[in-house]
Amino acid sequence: MINQKDSAGQRCVFCGRLVNSYTPVDGISAHDVDCMVCGRYRVSEDRESRILKKQFSRRTRAAYLSAIRSSNAEGRRYSIDDGRSLT
Ligand SMILES: [Zn+2]
Repeated sequence: MINQKDSAGQRCVFCGRLVNSYTPVDGISAHDVDCMVCGRYRVSEDRESRILKKQFSRRTRAAYLSAIRSSNAEGRRYSIDDGRSLT
């Protein structure tokens, strides 16, 4: 139950809700985040902290959310840092 422990108390960088899952990605400093509201996405720790510090405009964050939704609609996770859909 390592994942449950890791995800305890973690919040979505977009909406601030507690996430369903917050899983470290092997080999890179990033997490796979599953938010009930915003969807499934991957974000680097660096970008995550920049989003939390509000270094991105509202428009940029809206674009991220929209890209997450369209990737998720195809059954894929969206990787924010490189703009790719993951299988
Ligand atoms: Zn969210």
